Amino acid sequence: MALKGLDIFKLTPKTNCKECGNPTCMAFAMKAAQGSVPIEKCPYLSDDAKAKLSEATAPPMKSLKIGVNETEHTIGGETVLFRHDKTFVSKNLYAVNVCASCVDEKLKEIENVDYERIGERMYVELINLVYEGDKDAYVELVNKTLNKGRVLILDCECVDAARAALDVCADAKPILNGANEENYEQMNALAVEKKVVLGVRAKDIDALYDTVAKIEALGNKELVLDVTGSSIKEAFANAVQVRRAAIKDKDRTFGYPSIINAAALAKDDINMQTALASVFTLKYGSIIIMQSMSYAQALPLYGLRQNIYTDPQKPMKVEPGIYPINGADENSVCCTTVDFALTYFLVSGELERSGVPVNLLISDSGGYSVLTAWAAGKLSASSIAKFIKEFDVENKIKNRVLILPGKVAVLKGEVEEKLPDWKIIIAPNEAVSIVKYFKELEV
Ligand code: SF4
Repeated sequence: MALKGLDIFKLTPKTNCKECGNPTCMAFAMKAAQGSVPIEKCPYLSDDAKAKLSEATAPPMKSLKIGVNETEHTIGGETVLFRHDKTFVSKNLYAVNVCASCVDEKLKEIENVDYERIGERMYVELINLVYEGDKDAYVELVNKTLNKGRVLILDCECVDAARAALDVCADAKPILNGANEENYEQMNALAVEKKVVLGVRAKDIDALYDTVAKIEALGNKELVLDVTGSSIKEAFANAVQVRRAAIKDKDRTFGYPSIINAAALAKDDINMQTALASVFTLKYGSIIIMQSMSYAQALPLYGLRQNIYTDPQKPMKVEPGIYPINGADENSVCCTTVDFALTYFLVSGELERSGVPVNLLISDSGGYSVLTAWAAGKLSASSIAKFIKEFDVENKIKNRVLILPGKVAVLKGEVEEKLPDWKIIIAPNEAVSIVKYFKELEV
């Protein structure tokens, strides 16, 4: 049976529908309107109704895929302006500018920053290839940077050079960031032909709106908006206005992810670029381009991003396990604390500073801090003993000294009962005292 439009509301199955799992069509319709179930779950809708409803219930901001396989990323798809309203959907990505004259040095620098923090890989996800007027040199640049595990952005307003570059890299799904008020027809035709996302820029926000509307009228909705502008003030105003228009005013002409070129806004001033990148991580750059990325830039930026793009209601946790610090081995003492990420980084950082080899035992404490975990029953003598057993600590480590967090000194007696072969001692109350404590520790 093929139903059209609102006819679905007339159906009222007595038990949950086999197809969509809802007791009534109305229940399904309410969930579909909130975006919590896809419209396609009801097989009785006509294709026409499905298309109309999908459009009406789609997020106010387009979600796009760039790159392929292990380099694939999703950008956009945001539904709220503030992270306290709802968790953001797609974390922003960082790119580094590369040109023909600096490619070797920049690739080394980009590959140098690559680390993991709380289960997330921190690295430069995109390379922004700056076109400097020489088509052959640009194609060579594409060849050198393709297959480096990063998505390419072709920062190029020359249609001829962009075509030559895409002949080489279109299969890797780069972003063609080159459409403007003058060339949008040719650039759009090229992006559609090569099936890549098109970046749109214009002299001001009004011209950007008009240009996007014209490209949409040509049938392309795979767009990112370069909102950089000519000054920091303009870039910030553009970024905020575009996102507010999309999310608050539901104006889909601006309902696309954005690119901000911090390298262009603060040329040669990497500290200012880092400050700008942090501002645009908050509001509202989907892709932020930097002139370079060293650990000095990456550590604060990626840490900020991880905080902004995770659910504020869920504490960040590290994986339970045995973490050897300062080259600890089976003869080194053990020290335990909770899996709350902030606690882990404070404690492990101070242990590293002490220079003393220690096996840090992280048990599953629900992501709470020490006292909260203890109060919630997530950190107890039983949980510590359970961890020792489950992670086979007694076979992996010969040393039988276990140091408990100072704030749960009260557990000492119970832990001694559960682990009779261990010598249980108590660490200081605050992480700041750890270095002195471990340097003077005699066991
Ligand atoms: Fe109604 Fe369609 Fe859900 Fe069946 S699958 S209950 S017909 S909405």
